[in-house]
Amino acid sequence: MSLSPVLQQWLGYLSLYGWIWIIPILERLFPLRGQKLLRPGILNDLVHTYHPFHLWIILNSAFYAWVATYAQQHGGNTFPGQGALVDAHLGWSLLALFLIGHTTFYGAHYLSHKIPMLWQFHRVHHSSQTLDSFSTSRFHIFDKTLFALPALMLIAYFQPDPGVTLVYIAFSDFWGRYGHGNIKDAHWLGYFMSNPKFHRWHHSNHPEAIDKNFSAEFNFLDYLFGTAYYPKEGVPDNFGESGYSNNIVVQHYRPFHDCYKIVKKDGWMALLRKPKSKTKPESNAKPDPDTHQSDTLNAVHE
Ligand SMILES: [Zn+2]
Ligand SMILES: [Zn+2]
Repeated sequence: MSLSPVLQQWLGYLSLYGWIWIIPILERLFPLRGQKLLRPGILNDLVHTYHPFHLWIILNSAFYAWVATYAQQHGGNTFPGQGALVDAHLGWSLLALFLIGHTTFYGAHYLSHKIPMLWQFHRVHHSSQTLDSFSTSRFHIFDKTLFALPALMLIAYFQPDPGVTLVYIAFSDFWGRYGHGNIKDAHWLGYFMSNPKFHRWHHSNHPEAIDKNFSAEFNFLDYLFGTAYYPKEGVPDNFGESGYSNNIVVQHYRPFHDCYKIVKKDGWMALLRKPKSKTKPESNAKPDPDTHQSDTLNAVHE
């Protein structure tokens, strides 16, 4: 079962040009909080969306080609499960794509918060002080590659119908923007999906919400692994870093400089392992953006 070329084309248009302008209309109609459309950093986030140097696409394509070539040179379709989705029903393919996308995103996102070197790149996405659908695009290209690469490699391996893959990508792109949007929806939705309120806690500077809510769309892995934080009351409003640049060029350069500073101060191993917390964080303590831990550690990492 396959999708018509016209439908595939429309899904492609929605992913490229649609959601980014449709979701802001929802934000105006159903705002979670009163906030301005024109806010600091919006130009930067628009450049992130449309800049032509999507290096991560090139990197992903290179790895994609590598997997395909490797598979051909080592016996074609003889690996277990390779091409398993070629003739699969649309429903099974979609389910498999959601599972592949969800688990790889959760894993990559978890690591990008726990490994100091990866955090310096993911920190760019967390730097926005105002959260809306435009902040979805604010990513360092290496960080974006880390998030997308494992899923793309598995998709290349299992080979689902390209049309079904487009449906998944269009939904994933829609939900990414919706989940960052300043949109009010039903509280119960956050028990199943990473809705705006659920993902706002992930971006917040509240110590109890640090390293929580890693999911992209469905959030069962957060509940399964105990990384969900979704209180019934309250909506966080304290995000990002005031000292981080809103300039895309600086945002792509600074992680390297921050990694260099870590190595210079604490050695190479400090890029791979966070320092252990010595005291329990105060409930009103702010996290240290360098290490993404409570400021009870500032004495150790200033
Ligand atoms: Zn994150
Ligand atoms: Zn986010």
